[in-house]
Amino acid sequence: MCITCSIAEGKETPPGGLIYKNDRIIIHHCLDVNIPGYLIISPIRHVTQYQELVDAELMAMTKGMKNTVSILYRLPDVEKVYILSLGEETSHLHFHIFPRYRWLTDTSNDALFSEGKLDGAKLFSYYRNKNKTGELGVIPEINKAITFIKSQLSYCILAPLWFILGRMDV
Ligand SMILES: [Zn+2]
Repeated sequence: MCITCSIAEGKETPPGGLIYKNDRIIIHHCLDVNIPGYLIISPIRHVTQYQELVDAELMAMTKGMKNTVSILYRLPDVEKVYILSLGEETSHLHFHIFPRYRWLTDTSNDALFSEGKLDGAKLFSYYRNKNKTGELGVIPEINKAITFIKSQLSYCILAPLWFILGRMDV
């Protein structure tokens, strides 16, 4: 069984626990990279190709990404949020939702630039390797980010309900 399926079935616990789960998708913190708020979103069903997703999964993935990306922009010092799907290490389809903090754009580090321009793919790869712990660990900053994301996400999910209730009050 792959790591994502293990997490979805509760056999493996990601750092800080699952951030979100419904009947289609799971969202959790990256397992072994110490960058607060670096999230992974996956369909629960074991698929390896994007085009295998059914409409309900596509909708759930898209909504999950939109909600988490908008929340990550509320973390201090996040300038940009990258969304990537590579699938080289883990075949179970997943998206990396990677917050690019101001402190990651070190202008003196040539490894992050291509022809004088910040290179997102290089930055992602560089910090992923640099901050990789190789274990399922959690640092206080990650716990703090997870707590914030969970609280904001529950509001996003409840928001339509509050909207309906609000309208009913009128
Ligand atoms: Zn799987």
